[in-house]
Amino acid sequence: MAKHDTIVIGAGPTGLSAAYHIGAPSLLLEQHDRVGGWCRSIEEGGFTFDYAGHIMFSNDPYVHELYEMLVGDNVHWQMREAWIYSKDTYTRYPFQGSLYGLPPEVIQECIVGAIEARYGSIAPAPSANGNGNGKAAHANGNGNAHHANGKSHHGAKCNCDSGVVDDCCADGVLEATAPLGHPTPAQSASSEPKNFEEFIYKVWGAGIAKHFAVPYNKKLWTVPLSEMETSWLGGRVPLPDLGEMISGALHPTPPPMGPNARFGYVLKGGFQALMDGFLPHLKGNLRLNTRVDRISLADRRVWLADGTCLPYRYLVSTMPLPVFVRLLGEEAPPGIVEASAGLKHVSVRCVNLGVGRANVTDKHWIYYPEDSVFHRIFVQGNASPHCNPPGGFGLTCEISYSEHKPLPCDGDALIRRCIEDCRKVGIIREDDPIWVANQCDLPYAYVVYDHARERNVSTIRSWLTQHDVVLAGRYSEWAYYNSDHAFLAGRTAAQTVEALRQRDRQRQQQLPSVAARRSSAMEELRA
Ligand SMILES: Cc1cc2nc3c(=O)[nH]c(=O)nc-3n(C[C@H](O)[C@H](O)[C@H](O)COP(=O)(O)OP(=O)(O)OC[C@H]3O[C@@H](n4cnc5c(N)ncnc54)[C@H](O)[C@@H]3O)c2cc1C
Repeated sequence: MAKHDTIVIGAGPTGLSAAYHIGAPSLLLEQHDRVGGWCRSIEEGGFTFDYAGHIMFSNDPYVHELYEMLVGDNVHWQMREAWIYSKDTYTRYPFQGSLYGLPPEVIQECIVGAIEARYGSIAPAPSANGNGNGKAAHANGNGNAHHANGKSHHGAKCNCDSGVVDDCCADGVLEATAPLGHPTPAQSASSEPKNFEEFIYKVWGAGIAKHFAVPYNKKLWTVPLSEMETSWLGGRVPLPDLGEMISGALHPTPPPMGPNARFGYVLKGGFQALMDGFLPHLKGNLRLNTRVDRISLADRRVWLADGTCLPYRYLVSTMPLPVFVRLLGEEAPPGIVEASAGLKHVSVRCVNLGVGRANVTDKHWIYYPEDSVFHRIFVQGNASPHCNPPGGFGLTCEISYSEHKPLPCDGDALIRRCIEDCRKVGIIREDDPIWVANQCDLPYAYVVYDHARERNVSTIRSWLTQHDVVLAGRYSEWAYYNSDHAFLAGRTAAQTVEALRQRDRQRQQQLPSVAARRSSAMEELRA
């Protein structure tokens, strides 16, 4: 049985990039009939939909080189129009910077909350006890924990520049969790938020927490927010300062400007075309419709669903980490099985609607923190005009679900529910015809950063590293990656494989000299 040099499991963006960077020695195995993983697209009735809304965004020059190689001119760059729909009103993302149009009492609560998060309670001091000590009204209760806007109390700018959005991916995660700024070191010691919920109250204040951050994030993550930690936020999306916040409440906010507000999308062929762009550049073999069913690290073999056994020297996995551990069967020690069982994730169901009316909206994506079944609509019809047939317009309704929040219904009933809710929120009209309706399911969609994630991932990863398994990508590294990170993770995986190969070459070269030293030592002993 011929031994394969490097097997790469999964032809999503990470596996494609890994195989591309490894070159000829790679064998890329993909269970589906197309490459792309969650970056695939589906076509029906002249509409193109992605597996959940996807956009191209990166600050990394190498990713832009890859974009150029993969799609060349077949790309469409636009300034993002990201909106939130609540209280029957559209406000621009980010919520806290664009309160204009919301009911006055909501605006007041948001601004007062942000001021209190920064300076402590502004409620009049109770005169009865005469101690003059007002208590902060919001959950953190510390009264002075955080400054709210990228500037310290002393006016020094902190390391998150206003207006910079490092991660403008349209999936609503970082955008919905934008921190206002960072505490000074002195503040940090006493006020470091212990979990995501506390973070929201401390950093944004009670009003924004109540009217957007808590309901939206609960809807998206499905788990209690107190079960999540905050390392993944990384201070990446700052807020305008209090002055900007007040201005954003008094006037309509202009569209965002600058390179970070720009995003790309494939002009023709959906996100799938970006993934297919790898195909002419793969020097190794690609096998579609090929599911890996069992793995032995001891024998360095993988078994396919049809029973074929493939020996390998090096293994790169991009499949979800808990699935990988399961495929090891009894080779996985109890500690690894336990760590794997502790990994939590959220699933996403997409209901795609092909509406029989052109230009339904000018927005690109909309967040829904209230009671619609979907938490976000990705406006596929505006990602590229080529996603629509003449006179039609595509919308993708994204619904997150998990054991904590099961889908309310399924099949046609879920489609009917989405259409009903689209009418309720006013994005489509009562008489709009629906030309196409279909669904796609993403069982592993979001990795949940619960308090045990880091420990569980590192337990599994260090054990697998001892077996030379290279984990790469969003679900294999169990991290919040977008497709640009996936491209880079694939390149890193290829470099790791090369390092292992060099290590093995060196070991081979050392073998004769070790043998020679041993035999001369034996001779000395004999003499
Ligand atoms: C709702 C949502 C919105 C997103 N929006 C964006 C966005 O706007 N922009 C962006 O850049 N990114 C976005 N992302 C992230 C992006 O989809 C992921 O980063 C990317 O798909 C991860 O790539 P991957 O190759 O690591 O994993 P995957 O895409 O999951 O690919 C893994 C591959 O492995 C295959 N596989 C699994 N098991 C086996 C097996 N046993 N045998 C053979 N093959 C197997 C799968 O079929 C799949 O093709 C979004 C993700 C979600 C969930």
